[in-house]
Amino acid sequence: MIYADNAATTKMSEAAIQTMTALFQEAWGNPSSLYGHGQEAKEVLEKAREEIAAVIGAQSQEILFTSGGSEADNQAIRSAAALGAKKGKRHIVSTAFEHHAVLHTLKKLEEEGFEVTLLPVHENGIVRPEEVAAAIREDTCLVTVMFANNEIGTIQPIREIGAICREKGVLFHTDAVQAVGHLPIDVNADNIDMLSASAHKFHGPKGVGFLYVRKGIRLTNLIEGGAQERGKRAGTENVPGNAAMATALRETASQMPETTARLTVIRDRIIRGLSEIPHAALNGDAERRLPSNINFCFEGIEGESLLLLLDDKGICASSGSACTSGSLDPSHVLLAIGRVHDVAHGSLRLSIGEDITEEEADYIVRSVKDVVAYLRSFSPIWRDLTEGKKQFIL
Ligand SMILES: *Cc1c(COP(=O)(O)O)cnc(C)c1O
Repeated sequence: MIYADNAATTKMSEAAIQTMTALFQEAWGNPSSLYGHGQEAKEVLEKAREEIAAVIGAQSQEILFTSGGSEADNQAIRSAAALGAKKGKRHIVSTAFEHHAVLHTLKKLEEEGFEVTLLPVHENGIVRPEEVAAAIREDTCLVTVMFANNEIGTIQPIREIGAICREKGVLFHTDAVQAVGHLPIDVNADNIDMLSASAHKFHGPKGVGFLYVRKGIRLTNLIEGGAQERGKRAGTENVPGNAAMATALRETASQMPETTARLTVIRDRIIRGLSEIPHAALNGDAERRLPSNINFCFEGIEGESLLLLLDDKGICASSGSACTSGSLDPSHVLLAIGRVHDVAHGSLRLSIGEDITEEEADYIVRSVKDVVAYLRSFSPIWRDLTEGKKQFIL
């Protein structure tokens, strides 16, 4: 099997599995208990917090453990909204292609009386800092822009956007779930106030994540109860999960330079190969994208059929279209970069892993070429296109 869906989730690293399983047997006490066995667990937890903080240039008190990226996004946005509302500021700036953990939270806030401006991301899938600056108003309480997009992999000008927010005195949150461990991040140099991350996107366990919150920013609780996480997130801590997240992050981040260099070459090899398919187009900027991400649209086919046939060839991939999301709507990300419905339906996302070989990359290209040609051979839409009854778009 060739696993090319690392944007959906990654395999846990051996080291992270070891950390986690050892802790099930060793420091399994409650970190809130005062006896030695509880305090051992507390030490494990705090060491994990320090290690995670170090990777993004934060202080350990600024890291809040959560159940994953979605919770971190919800809490960051809800907190900024609550702080804003106290001062009569009820306007939020974001983008059209955020993850649903962000977009659906913003939708709820709209129902609660907030106003949301979703900025365009243009054909290349990149937000323009000057448009962020222009969108900020007197009553803006938050700007939230993702670090790297989960579908098309485009990397946003986070440092510039952060600088604009800082200058205008507006809180800046970034959903960095696709970036943490994979791109260099320094919350201070990058002017980030809040940042969401998820362990299972960098070879840690699922159901574990963290929120970075700059010192001095008051969080709103999503979960009330005990005084865990400085009173901001109740519930007995997932000590093994958080420790495994730290192990995974340290490991992934330490290999970043080599991984980036190697994957960039393989990514571009796949992009070159797939570009040879007629009436196909790369989605998102060719250079300012994650080294792991390849996303194409192929005219005249359905993304789901492509995925099923690739699965038969032992390739795990993803598509931003219909059935995967259980709805008939194509991906909001592809629509945001200007793909029309028909074209957006024929999309393919490959998110390659660190261990991919050149041979596997070539096998992927061959397989996609074969499957696209096969699907087109009996596609009524393709027939209409080739017979001139419909206009080619790509
Ligand atoms: C995966 C993902 C999330 C959700 O993270 P979970 O830990 O699965 O809740 C949020 N944002 C982005 C960009 C993601 O890729």
